Amino acid sequence: MAINVKPVPTLDERINDIRAATAEVINDHILPNENRIWAARWDSANSSPDVHKEASALRRDIQQRVKKAGLWAPHLPEEYGGMGLSFMQQAYMNEVLAYSVGASALFGVVAPNSGNQKILVKYGTDEQKKRWLEPLVAGEMQSGFSMTEPDTPGSDPRSLKTTARKDGNEWVINGHKWFTSNGKRADFLIVMCRTEDPEAPADADGKMTQIIVPTTTSGVNIVRGVPVWGRDSDHCEIIYDNVRVPLSNALGREGSGHQAAQDRLGAGRVFHCMNSIGAMWRSFDLMNERAMTREVHGGPLEEKQFIQGFIAESYMDIQAARLMTIHCAEKMEAGGDPRVDISAIKVFVPEAMHRVVDRAIQVWGAAGVSGDLPLAGYYQGARTLRIADGPDEVHKVLMAKLILRRYHAGETWDFGN
Ligand SMILES: Cc1cc2nc3c(=O)[nH]c(=O)nc-3n(C[C@H](O)[C@H](O)[C@H](O)COP(=O)(O)OP(=O)(O)OC[C@H]3O[C@@H](n4cnc5c(N)ncnc54)[C@H](O)[C@@H]3O)c2cc1C
Repeated sequence: MAINVKPVPTLDERINDIRAATAEVINDHILPNENRIWAARWDSANSSPDVHKEASALRRDIQQRVKKAGLWAPHLPEEYGGMGLSFMQQAYMNEVLAYSVGASALFGVVAPNSGNQKILVKYGTDEQKKRWLEPLVAGEMQSGFSMTEPDTPGSDPRSLKTTARKDGNEWVINGHKWFTSNGKRADFLIVMCRTEDPEAPADADGKMTQIIVPTTTSGVNIVRGVPVWGRDSDHCEIIYDNVRVPLSNALGREGSGHQAAQDRLGAGRVFHCMNSIGAMWRSFDLMNERAMTREVHGGPLEEKQFIQGFIAESYMDIQAARLMTIHCAEKMEAGGDPRVDISAIKVFVPEAMHRVVDRAIQVWGAAGVSGDLPLAGYYQGARTLRIADGPDEVHKVLMAKLILRRYHAGETWDFGN
């Protein structure tokens, strides 16, 4: 089934055109080839050199089409070869892009490189941009973001133990990280370190600095890719053992690492949610397609009330998730305080995605959990999203605190704003 994208009356012409052009590439070139494009990665029994060759030729061909259509790198400013989209334009493009598995990579958006690119654009010096950002954008380099540690809770980033000590004109970094995505392929890592005063209490503010570390630096030990969902992964465990890099590798002002991480996550959460909506959209189409065509117990699935319930509940989940995300994005764009809304979508949207994908899997039966459809991958993705970028509980606690703070100040909540 193709994604059905018509102009949205409230959106400007440019973004409607971008959505239509994105849908065209997805419908005409990606969906018909989806399993072949990613075959070698999804199906290890089907990873002969010929399959690899065909898959990379297909990917290159699609990337060329994307560039020709002016749709390359929606997350980057034009001066770095991107589309120069506004925040809202990018959000509205994302839901279309995410309809097809892995499509964002074919449009030049590859996590964690894309997040690192944005941080380098915002915080990088001219020299850092030349050395790291430009090759990253050109696809000549890979990168990772190394923050989470096995021995400290990632949900409380101020507790991080990895230290960076100044020695002459170098940083000396020591620490133990894991779940550094893309770690094996990365040419450099952006490492979150505790600086200034390594002996300060764990909850002190203003001690975090992000430092660029080339992976070839002596003392960077990539221990392993931590297996995820029963498969090998590139989410790496890394030991930093007296790693020395120049002081000029610090990204942004010393002590601003926590703020930079928040910048990375804030807008990123809206984009992730719009991606989840694209995945739900696809799951919904798949659910309806199967309900209309599968005959069981004397009639099509669509005539069974259980299945009708799945369709209705999924529609409500998707609409609620989408409108909540757009409301949050509009508030961010208007310069309001979006903190409650960001946390709300971070919790609600992956949960909604989990429910929608779960129902689509149920409707498809065994095929639903097979590698022939994107549903099994979506299901794991939705579950993972409830942990990554801040677990659900942390966001709920924050929401309640912020809401109650307003009531304590004698105000009530205004749902219209
Ligand atoms: C596939 C994947 C990719 C990742 N990629 C990266 C990456 O590239 N770079 C990187 O640095 N990290 C990455 N991460 C790590 C991720 O950001 C962390 O897992 C996340 O921040 C949670 O940290 P933690 O695992 O240490 O859980 P913990 O902080 O130990 O939390 C465990 C659980 O405790 C509960 N909890 C926490 N706080 C509270 C509270 N206040 N009240 C009640 N319950 C609470 C929650 O249920 C939570 O799930 C990735 C993770 C995954 C799964």
